[in-house]
Amino acid sequence: MATINQNYLKLPGSYLFSEVARRAAAYAQANPEKRLIKLGIGDATRPLPSVVLKAMHDAVDEMGHLDTFKGYGPEQGYDFLRNAISEHDYHARGVSIAPDEIFVSDGAKSDCGNIGDIFGLNNVVAVCDPVYPVYVDTNAMAGRAGDYSEELGKWSKLYYMPCVAENGFTPAIPNCKVDIIYLCFPNNPTGAVITREQLKPWVDYANENGAVILYDSAYEAFIVDDDIPHTIYEIEGAKTCAIEFRSYSKTAGFTGTRCAYTVVPKELERDGGNLNFLWNRRQCTKFNGVPYIVQKGAAAIYSEQGQKEIKEVIAYYQQNAKVIRSGLTEAGLSVFGGVNSPYVWCKTPGGMDSWSFFDQLLHEANVVTTPGSGFGPSGQGYLRMTAFGDADATKEAVERVKKILQ
Ligand code: PLP
Repeated sequence: MATINQNYLKLPGSYLFSEVARRAAAYAQANPEKRLIKLGIGDATRPLPSVVLKAMHDAVDEMGHLDTFKGYGPEQGYDFLRNAISEHDYHARGVSIAPDEIFVSDGAKSDCGNIGDIFGLNNVVAVCDPVYPVYVDTNAMAGRAGDYSEELGKWSKLYYMPCVAENGFTPAIPNCKVDIIYLCFPNNPTGAVITREQLKPWVDYANENGAVILYDSAYEAFIVDDDIPHTIYEIEGAKTCAIEFRSYSKTAGFTGTRCAYTVVPKELERDGGNLNFLWNRRQCTKFNGVPYIVQKGAAAIYSEQGQKEIKEVIAYYQQNAKVIRSGLTEAGLSVFGGVNSPYVWCKTPGGMDSWSFFDQLLHEANVVTTPGSGFGPSGQGYLRMTAFGDADATKEAVERVKKILQ
């Protein structure tokens, strides 16, 4: 008889966003006259920039001609895109990342999950709490997380780093030895950021302890403050301890188009292996690259017009974040994030638990949010709202929330 990966059976019930969607759908079905406004899942709503469309249309035409047709592309991504990333996302910031340290992929979600393939099963993994659930679940699937306790909402072998109002939602450096550290800044879900000064001790810790930092920079485009690093490689020493994930999903509206990339520096060695070599080996074996058409679209955002267009879209979402932040603050809630980030994180009123406040907002304001407790035990008593919605709908949602809380 075929056996299964028993680790899958240990996973708790449902993925957070499925439960959010289930409750919203049940409410909508029972109350068809109500108009729900969704500020729950962090999904782009603005259309793709026109330069991206044009580049993709042209690429489609190329695929239809004998002379320009493309079959399998390089697993790591086409040179035109890797060169553009190296130049614009790194060299332009004074950071040297070579094109062959960049691996183009179909998403930061897949990369964050798949990166575990190149690490042993006995590593101690540190995660923020609350956290983007993919880091935790993929380690659990691999068997690195131990057993799940429903009561604690935690896995026995993971090292949890609480991120709460008291520490400004930035975790404390572990006081013991951990091997793999997931950091995500600007953070999903709290919207917190880390300064260069705060990030440096993490790089030092990782180099001193032989740990690897998995740095998720999916929301880098939302950074406005000068002291916040756009890439971990702005920090001295990061190339010998960090892997970075980036995505076009929130930068350029690629959530449905799918393109991202991961940087694995060639200097990064652990346990007798070169991580750039291992990741390349993994990708060549299990991945056949991102469609040429999509990579052409992604490369177009690095043009002058592309930069202008994506900045307009980011500004649109940033304005939504401002509206949510100020509206919730006026409603008397303690509000965090939403400045260098598309996520606003707020404390529930009167010590309410996250799901109760979620339900109240769903039923009374008809606004869909995400309960903080779904991101980890330290998220209990918080709620996340996203700035990725339509501007008018966002304003209306905030007015509705204000009204019911007054
Ligand atoms: N990393 C974080 C922190 C995210 O919040 C998300 C999406 O919500 C992703 C990665 C996934 O990005 P992608 O769409 O590139 O898979």
